[in-house]
Amino acid sequence: MLPKGAWVAPTMPRRENLVRLSDGDAKPAGRSLFGLSREQLTAVMGQFRQPAYRARQLLQAIFQQRIASLEEVVTFPRSLRKEMAEEGWAIARPRIVETFRSVDGTERYLVAGGDGQTVETVWMPEGDGGEQGDGGGHEAAMVRAGSQRATVCVSSQVGCAVNCQFCLTAKLGLQRNLSAGEIAGQVIAVLERQKVEVGRDRINLVFMGMGEPFLNYGEFIAAVRLLVNEASLAESRMTVSTSGIVPGILRLAGEPVRPRLAISLNAPNDAIREAIMPITRKWKIEDVILAAAQLPLRPRERVTFEYVLLGGVNDGLHHADELVALARSAPMPVKVNLIAWNPGPGIAYTMPTPEQVAAFQQRLIARGVPAFLRRPRGRDIYAACGQLKRTVA
Ligand code: SAH
Ligand code: SF4
Repeated sequence: MLPKGAWVAPTMPRRENLVRLSDGDAKPAGRSLFGLSREQLTAVMGQFRQPAYRARQLLQAIFQQRIASLEEVVTFPRSLRKEMAEEGWAIARPRIVETFRSVDGTERYLVAGGDGQTVETVWMPEGDGGEQGDGGGHEAAMVRAGSQRATVCVSSQVGCAVNCQFCLTAKLGLQRNLSAGEIAGQVIAVLERQKVEVGRDRINLVFMGMGEPFLNYGEFIAAVRLLVNEASLAESRMTVSTSGIVPGILRLAGEPVRPRLAISLNAPNDAIREAIMPITRKWKIEDVILAAAQLPLRPRERVTFEYVLLGGVNDGLHHADELVALARSAPMPVKVNLIAWNPGPGIAYTMPTPEQVAAFQQRLIARGVPAFLRRPRGRDIYAACGQLKRTVA
């Protein structure tokens, strides 16, 4: 149930909207076009006696030209724009309301929907190292002069219900789900700010911001479809990270359009995992790996095991050996992304030493498991993994 006043982009007669309106919210945020699917927009245009190609024109304007106001959609007759505006329709793209810039070039944004509630999105120039080993390494050499390479880290919920003990977002609890428009809107707003030219610039998307994407599956996958089909971003450069929600992994396996999969493993056995990720009581490591094995992988694609190194908890060489055994026994090709734990207030873990991190990585590599180290980005502005929380309005 969405809290009263929550921003819901689509205004097709969806259940939450009806509930919200009957809550006595007489002045909703407006009729938002941003976030509606092609089918939904076709229906809206039908209300204005317009043919289906108007929906295509609108999607083109919103996602390719990144136009943020209806008046600027010049492919529409002026009379149509006026009529739609009079009926209360607006593009209503989520907008960046605050920017924090790190010494390393990372930017963290607060992105607001119509109700002013903000979510966090991160722009990391040159990526964070975690995309290495994705089979795209050779592309780096082909990047044209003057083009940008970056990773955008996208949120799927405000807060999170999963309660991993090392994560700051967990402290918020789940505030609410984001709509497809709010998820895709973070990306479009950031691409516009950075003047990204899709096709020329190499942009990776990671659904690794606040929230558990697979506990908001429908909106998450609707956002992916908009970003792939309408904004022309490559699904092979998108990665969704999950704490191991098995039904979500299985649904992803059946999707014709889907990002790569990363699993936040974070422990080499169920005992340690349960202590740091209580969700393990519901789904064991083996259940999660077997679900992930259902994905029909694309050529050179691997499933990523993310592994947050917590000093003295899971960073010993015997843990690395256990992780090697897990990786080897997995029925699909995997790679490991190591992340040194980023500290946060009120969380009683310690960072692993750089020597420990290096030794752990070397052990995996020496035993034949591809292992990459994710560079912490924007720690000074609280933008690094697991640090998103503090500035939620
Ligand atoms: N909820 C999803 C995606 C968001 S979290 C998930 O858990 O997978 C993205 C990644 O950040 C996860 O791999 C998580 O384990 C990691 N993470 C969380 N808190 C962290 C912290 N304090 N330091 C480093 N990584 C952290
Ligand atoms: Fe939620 Fe991911 Fe943080 Fe766990 S690590 S609490 S699943 S955001």
